[in-house]
Amino acid sequence: MLLIDGTWSPAENDGSREIVNPFDASVIATVAEASAGDADRAVRAARAAFDAGAWSTASGAHRAAILTGLADALQEHRAELARLETLDTGKTLVESQTDVDDSTAVLRYYAALSTTDTPRPVDTGRPGAISQVVHEPVGVCALITPWNYPLLQITWKLAPALAAGNTVVAKPSELTPLTTIRLFELLHELLDKAGAPSGTANLVLGGGTVGAVLAGHPSVDLVSFTGGAVSGRSVMRSAAETVKRVALELGGKNPNIVFPDADLDAAVDFALTAAFLHSGQVCSAGSRLLLHRSLHGGFTAELARRADLIRLGDGFTKGTETGPLISAAHREKVERHVAGALAEGAVLRAGGVRPTEPELQNGFFLRPTVLDECHAGMTVVREEVFGPVLTIEVFDDEDEVVALANDTPYGLAGAVWTRDAARGERVAARLRLGTVWINDYHPYVPQAEWGGFKQSGTGRELGPTGLREYQETKHVWRTLDPAPQRWFAG
Ligand code: NAD
Repeated sequence: MLLIDGTWSPAENDGSREIVNPFDASVIATVAEASAGDADRAVRAARAAFDAGAWSTASGAHRAAILTGLADALQEHRAELARLETLDTGKTLVESQTDVDDSTAVLRYYAALSTTDTPRPVDTGRPGAISQVVHEPVGVCALITPWNYPLLQITWKLAPALAAGNTVVAKPSELTPLTTIRLFELLHELLDKAGAPSGTANLVLGGGTVGAVLAGHPSVDLVSFTGGAVSGRSVMRSAAETVKRVALELGGKNPNIVFPDADLDAAVDFALTAAFLHSGQVCSAGSRLLLHRSLHGGFTAELARRADLIRLGDGFTKGTETGPLISAAHREKVERHVAGALAEGAVLRAGGVRPTEPELQNGFFLRPTVLDECHAGMTVVREEVFGPVLTIEVFDDEDEVVALANDTPYGLAGAVWTRDAARGERVAARLRLGTVWINDYHPYVPQAEWGGFKQSGTGRELGPTGLREYQETKHVWRTLDPAPQRWFAG
């Protein structure tokens, strides 16, 4: 069902799509597939709700209550949401539970921020004139999300968009819509109870065609998009027609740099997590390991040994460490990357093959893969693979590794491992990345901005900047006691 103007309804032409569990290729649900007409109706509903003003001018406290209510609802339905996420994405149940908790934290963070976002007074330099800068909602926001972190990604957008007073039309990935549908059921109940306009939060389902309608729609004021570079460019082009605001969170090719003075036990361990968590289907995956030459043999051998031990399986089974890739087509793309890398001279140290266990044969699994002897010119090093594939390059000194790490069109995230605090700071400062971890990999908090340099995107999610993305800035000047100025004498 689609949620348009406060009503759940099927697609106008009865379009539908089967949703597949990547663990065993079984069909787990059939959902509505919106038409261009449905997307248009959703945008019109969001426009009418915004223009009516009751939501867009509501107090921060009113919006905070909705977001807090939604956070509470996520925790009440934690088990159900985590189960849906694992069914839909194949990730382990522990990861899905963490995603529900992280989504809850983001809702609570923006609930708090919406009550403390006060106008900024400005010194006009003139007696009798006072002035302030205020932040207002942008308007109708289209929220388009990918399949790797469905609940988390929609929450990163929905929480600040609603906190700022916007109305929204959300479109999750056509591959993994289930938790977003459940989230909107919970949100709809809360908005309804609070008397919010019926079109405040709308949900349409479908693929790139529906997304493109939203991105090009003249009544949409902002598109917040998370996904791949090709779709991101298309969104930017569509949005250009009506000069709408665009926030893009795109891919990465993230360097993980290890100096010889690092804690090597921890560095090997985190190199595995960085590359193979969620089978590498993470935008910030540390898919490019840059090793100091002196570490090359021992570090690589230990990494490959441990990669071979990673337990693939059903996300619901205790002991499973990582799940399948999202689809048969995606696995084939990843396999083409591995074959291409071997043809370009990479040396296979682990994986590169599908698992042999009988119970994994229907799913879209690929063994964690370590490719050694790589260099910056290879396709596998330059392009985002978005699968369980780690490439290894060696370096000799700090200048060289900084140049190597920055030699990519992407700039999302990366890490540096060293016990030399000054070196850690120096390298972090020179990396052209939106997030740098020193002696860690992957942690994030709602309070800190997330986003990419270069072709990893525009704008930021999370943190105070994440709220500003969804706000217009207005300067209001007041002259208290106006008198004629007589600029024109007549
Ligand atoms: P994708 O680009 O194929 O799809 C993303 C979303 O955009 C989906 O909802 C899809 O239906 C929609 N879409 C596709 N074409 C569109 C178009 N022309 N106009 C409007 N919408 C369109 O990406 P994906 O395969 O779902 O996700 C994987 C990608 O997402 C990877 O590149 C990954 O790095 C990126 N990602 C980035 C972040 C980040 O924070 N930077 C987070 C998660 C994922």
